Amino acid sequence: MGTRYRHADVLVVGAGPVGLATAWEVARRGRTVHVLEQFDVGHDKGSSAGLERQWRIQYSQEQWARLALRTLPLWRELESASGRELVHATGSLWFGRTGVATSEGEIGAAAAVLDRLDVPFEWLTAADIERRFGFAGLPADHEGFHQKDGGVIDVRGTLEALTELALRAGATVTEHVTVHAVEPDGTGVTVRTSLGDHRADTVVIAAGAFADTLLGLLGRPLDLHVFRMVSAYFAPRTPAFDLPTWYAFLEPEEPGINGSFYGFGRNPWTGSGLVRAAPDTELPSTATGSSRVDAAGIERLRRTESWVRDHLPGLVPKFTGASTCLAALPADPGRQFFLGSLHGQVPYGERVVVQSAGWAFKFVPSFGRLCAELALGLDGETHTGADGALVPGAVSW
Ligand SMILES: Cc1cc2nc3c(=O)[nH]c(=O)nc-3n(C[C@H](O)[C@H](O)[C@H](O)COP(=O)(O)OP(=O)(O)OC[C@H]3O[C@@H](n4cnc5c(N)ncnc54)[C@H](O)[C@@H]3O)c2cc1C
Repeated sequence: MGTRYRHADVLVVGAGPVGLATAWEVARRGRTVHVLEQFDVGHDKGSSAGLERQWRIQYSQEQWARLALRTLPLWRELESASGRELVHATGSLWFGRTGVATSEGEIGAAAAVLDRLDVPFEWLTAADIERRFGFAGLPADHEGFHQKDGGVIDVRGTLEALTELALRAGATVTEHVTVHAVEPDGTGVTVRTSLGDHRADTVVIAAGAFADTLLGLLGRPLDLHVFRMVSAYFAPRTPAFDLPTWYAFLEPEEPGINGSFYGFGRNPWTGSGLVRAAPDTELPSTATGSSRVDAAGIERLRRTESWVRDHLPGLVPKFTGASTCLAALPADPGRQFFLGSLHGQVPYGERVVVQSAGWAFKFVPSFGRLCAELALGLDGETHTGADGALVPGAVSW
């Protein structure tokens, strides 16, 4: 990595999973593509810190459940091309109070979508959840469902697989180079970086929570809500104890503050034996990126310890390691992601493609393909629903 270049068919800003997936998709189509990353691949200052992400089909909105179903074969293709398992089916358990809506969704609406799409799931009472999965002390009116195809995505494995495949297909990745500006014109795009200027036919801004630094300069910032989240690892009391991935929908702690928790089972690929649990609460952040867990984060994790003590007796209720991660969601809660080109938004905007925000790891293979197709001007059937425009008004996803 680190090859110098001056021109590419496509230049990608950001070597997170979306940028790397885009690079692989462009390179395997025989076109030149370069990825510029301000830190290094696999750093922990963006939105892809940590080891695992939840894979789930259930969404409260049918189109995202359909997108998850369409993305699974692309994960399988990535697994087969890289020779490593990346999405492990451990099952996905959603429970708590129906009617409580978080940025994750809502139990009843998601179950209705699964029903409509003929995706199998089991509806469970609080007693079922306690008996089957080892939770305890749940209020009797809690309920939910288990969806057997849900699971956990290997974050580091995905980054490694995408990097290797992109490089093998001819992409180049340069680390420690910051893109300062993206300037489209009639014949291409000038990309101004800390290592000098570059030209490309089109640029894909896959800059995650940092996207607005560049889009602001273009006069089209996204309506991003950027915050930090914390999570921690807990030790099971017995070697046999395990969990599916889970999300507990709980009443807001106080108005506007999500009181829900989520977690994972034993990590299938590290064999560490620890399980991750986390509060789904938002901590303030600027988009500068920091991997330090501060006092506010520790306070959230103490609250998680006490929830674990009350409801997960199979775990020692004292966290062993903590981490933080930068998250970005569209500020409009009715929207899940931003993906599209700046066509019609800025002069020559069709030369700039953007993906940012959302619980997007599960969609990485789809988003990489969509960004590549938009950047190469292909009209892939997968982007039905995306209208090519990005910010206010005509936004795609
Ligand atoms: C705590 C937490 C839990 C999550 N849980 C889930 C989950 O269970 N399921 C799920 O599907 N998703 C989940 N997500 C979301 C998911 O992790 C993100 O959607 C995904 O990791 C984003 O990948 P990305 O490539 O868009 O961004 P990133 O990985 O942040 O990559 C963007 C890259 O661009 C680089 N960059 C930015 N600006 C510049 C610049 N000017 N010049 C050069 N480089 C630049 C950055 O350094 C960074 O490396 C979670 C996120 C968090 C924070």
